[in-house]
Amino acid sequence: MKPTPTFGFVATLSTVALAQTLQGRQNATVSQFGTCKFDRTTAFQLLKASEKPVAQIKRRACSGGKRSKSSSAVSAVAPTSQSLSSSHDTSMSIISSSASSSTATSAVFVSMTDAIVTTAASSTPTSAWQPPSSISAALEEVWEHEMSTYGRPLEFKNFGYDHLMDTQARIQYCVRWDSTQVVTAEQRDKLETALQRQYNKWVEGALAGFDGFPYSTANIKIVGWATNNTALFEGNVTAGVTLYSTTTDVDGIPQCDPACGRAIHYVDGDYSGCTGGNAARYDVSLWLTDGMDDSGFGGDWGQRIGTNYMLENLESENIEILLHEIGHTLALDDFYDWTPPGVSNFIMRAGSSAEVTEFDVWMVRDWWRHLKSRYNL
Ligand SMILES: [Zn+2]
Repeated sequence: MKPTPTFGFVATLSTVALAQTLQGRQNATVSQFGTCKFDRTTAFQLLKASEKPVAQIKRRACSGGKRSKSSSAVSAVAPTSQSLSSSHDTSMSIISSSASSSTATSAVFVSMTDAIVTTAASSTPTSAWQPPSSISAALEEVWEHEMSTYGRPLEFKNFGYDHLMDTQARIQYCVRWDSTQVVTAEQRDKLETALQRQYNKWVEGALAGFDGFPYSTANIKIVGWATNNTALFEGNVTAGVTLYSTTTDVDGIPQCDPACGRAIHYVDGDYSGCTGGNAARYDVSLWLTDGMDDSGFGGDWGQRIGTNYMLENLESENIEILLHEIGHTLALDDFYDWTPPGVSNFIMRAGSSAEVTEFDVWMVRDWWRHLKSRYNL
């Protein structure tokens, strides 16, 4: 077991263009936190239609503020507790709960691209793969590490890039209110704005204008909230937003209707049970949990962070843990076990940076350039 590393400030960026893009983000203080290792085995494991996802899932776990070898043991056992320090894989919870959740009866086919306004940046000149020489070796090592560590990663079809391309960069969120706190209409509105800002640290800050990526920005919309107590929701729920109060996962934690969830249906593409149609479909979840304020989880299914941490950072320019977890949604790895040569401060190295850095930017671009052939651009 090793202590979570702490660092003073984010390293100064050297590349002019990126330095401009990321300008103003370097003075944020770095908070110490432990971020659970993304379950890459889950994310990269292809599911056959005939197999139950839960049977294939292997998980890693960690507790807040620590990175523990002992707690990262791979397990294929279904979660039995919602303890924050226990292994608790979000995607499995969501997936495995689909059978026990209420099922809508409407047979509305949900097209991923229905009624979507494009945000294409067709006139934007795109740059190619040309990382600064100072980080090119490190990027190469990261890529080789990811390719050699995880099985068939380039075949996985539910990365954030897939969400962006399927939705024409209009990402729909479900917020799982795993909390006993009251949430006001103003806080709910601000949360959507915060997600928009943070998600675009990656899209606007890294992908826009790079190597044929067709969108200049991502539009984030919260289409649903899930709670076990609607009385916690002060004020009117925004028109078009569904408040779910009867759908839970196997642990009894509120979730939006699984029939509308991409993490559950990206393989079969069957959203026919989603009563709200495309407007209610959600690409990812933001799972906000009481008492989980120094750690997080992230994956193709979305992000899980602490309720207080999120509420206290609604207007922050950079929400460190959320940025890190969105990085996992975009396929980026953790760096608990090793550090690429010459690079030590970046958002995906938990605790070393409060913001997306040049190195993070190029790691995302590396994924895009390797995945883009699947999109027939
Ligand atoms: Zn992580």
